[in-house]
Amino acid sequence: MRFLVAIDGPAAAGKGTISKAVAAHFSLAHLDTGLLYRAVGAKVLAGADPVEAAKALTPEDLQVDTLRTAEVAQAASRVAVDAQVRQCLVDFQRSFAGRDGGAVLDGRDIGTVICPDAQAKLFVTASAETRAERRYLELIGKGHDTTREIVLADVKARDARDAGRAEAPMIAADDAVFIDTSAMSIEQAVARAIEIVNAAYTAQN
Ligand code: C5P
Repeated sequence: MRFLVAIDGPAAAGKGTISKAVAAHFSLAHLDTGLLYRAVGAKVLAGADPVEAAKALTPEDLQVDTLRTAEVAQAASRVAVDAQVRQCLVDFQRSFAGRDGGAVLDGRDIGTVICPDAQAKLFVTASAETRAERRYLELIGKGHDTTREIVLADVKARDARDAGRAEAPMIAADDAVFIDTSAMSIEQAVARAIEIVNAAYTAQN
């Protein structure tokens, strides 16, 4: 049996934490697909051509420890607009999703484009202000020098680019269940996600 979970939503809504917790709970492999775009974005910042970088991407490129910066996030969202770049990354994601037992994939277009046949689909969101505040505290905690205003502007710019692009825009699948984490603790959000996925899991077995 192959059980697939698609988790989409904007930056800093809690997708990553929820995806890891759901994967651990159901003993599934997890792929953070944002890392693929970040890895391509990082190569472009270093001077590479976006399509060539996407074609040549290897699993090792996802392990680079500088992919989590705000600069790489913006570069990722710029390369993610390119239909050719996206096409180059489809096989990597689908082959991960096709592994025995199944997987959890999180991103922006998993439920709509990459795994439209996923048994469980979540769209995790939160207000831009809440997400920016979380990201701000995370960056400050890691010793980065930034302001709330800069982080909020970054979050909004990325949202607008991701939701407004022509190719695979960030949008909830028709059959996705929404979780708004604005007023939730991490524990509450994870519990709600597991509850939703469990309903789909039980229905399949
Ligand atoms: O999820 P994360 O914030 O790491 O994603 C970085 C960027 O990669 C996003 O802002 C988006 O532009 C792009 N992305 C995408 N499709 C995905 C995952 C990420 O376009 N499935």
